[in-house]
Amino acid sequence: MRPAAVEIEITLQPRYRSPSSRRWPVMVAPRPDEWLPGWLIRFGAANGVPAHALGALLGLESGNWARNIECGMSPAIACDLETASGLSAAMLPTLVLPRTDHILMLAPRVNVSSSAVGRRQATWLQLCPRCLEEDEAPYLRSHWRLATRLICQHHGRQLIDRCPACRQGFAVCEAASLSPFITCTTCGQDLRAAAGPQLGTSTLRIALALERASRIAGFHHRSKILALPLELDPPLSRPLTQLSGMVRARCLSFARPRILALAKTPSPLPPVSPRTTMHDLLTAYAAVAIRPHAQSAGKRSGAPKT
Ligand SMILES: [Zn+2]
Ligand SMILES: [Zn+2]
Repeated sequence: MRPAAVEIEITLQPRYRSPSSRRWPVMVAPRPDEWLPGWLIRFGAANGVPAHALGALLGLESGNWARNIECGMSPAIACDLETASGLSAAMLPTLVLPRTDHILMLAPRVNVSSSAVGRRQATWLQLCPRCLEEDEAPYLRSHWRLATRLICQHHGRQLIDRCPACRQGFAVCEAASLSPFITCTTCGQDLRAAAGPQLGTSTLRIALALERASRIAGFHHRSKILALPLELDPPLSRPLTQLSGMVRARCLSFARPRILALAKTPSPLPPVSPRTTMHDLLTAYAAVAIRPHAQSAGKRSGAPKT
């Protein structure tokens, strides 16, 4: 006796009903401390679009297109992203560092030479390999872009600013992989296997003091923080934002008294408004997701190829 056939009911979900929909099929909720370009790369990868093709697809430039949006984006691009992702355009600015922090962001250079000069140069982006290893979906934190952020407080290790195998910076916008951030785009090294230098208690304390100093400092004191390399022996004329993690870590010991003094300076600025919580993000995300889809989408955000 043959068993009765099992009937499987298939229901077309709302996002797939309209072939003309410009909403991309897979939604990706950002993390509260996520770096905007990193979220966009995760969103593209989830929809089958690697980072190296994403910039042109969204009307950004090719190459290191993250530079064009990490401090904010045009209303047209924000509208396109809202349509494609289902994320409210009003939420996008919450993934951007406060304007007052922009002066502290590392210079946008990824490729550096292996010379002594190259080893001292900033490489734009830092990361904690252990955080990426522990993330369910690896993502890049916005504060990893700051020159005054040298350590991962969660793991007590120095952030890395270049691949331990090829010594190049992290060219995340050039990735062809749909599993972003976990491998070096230059040599393929698994970055989760890397480890930032373990720092002693005293150095960790100064690194935390530097972060505090940068948070409470007004414009004048931030200029003093950026000038800390002048206290190296021999002194460097370049600001903190143009230097590698290795050199910035040396500043911690040379400029220790100055950093501790700046960290105790009373704040001349009003308190920074609290960052958006995960609950706020998910609530806004859900509100947009159930909204009727607008047909008048911008021209630059095409649906991904399937
Ligand atoms: Zn970490
Ligand atoms: Zn590499």
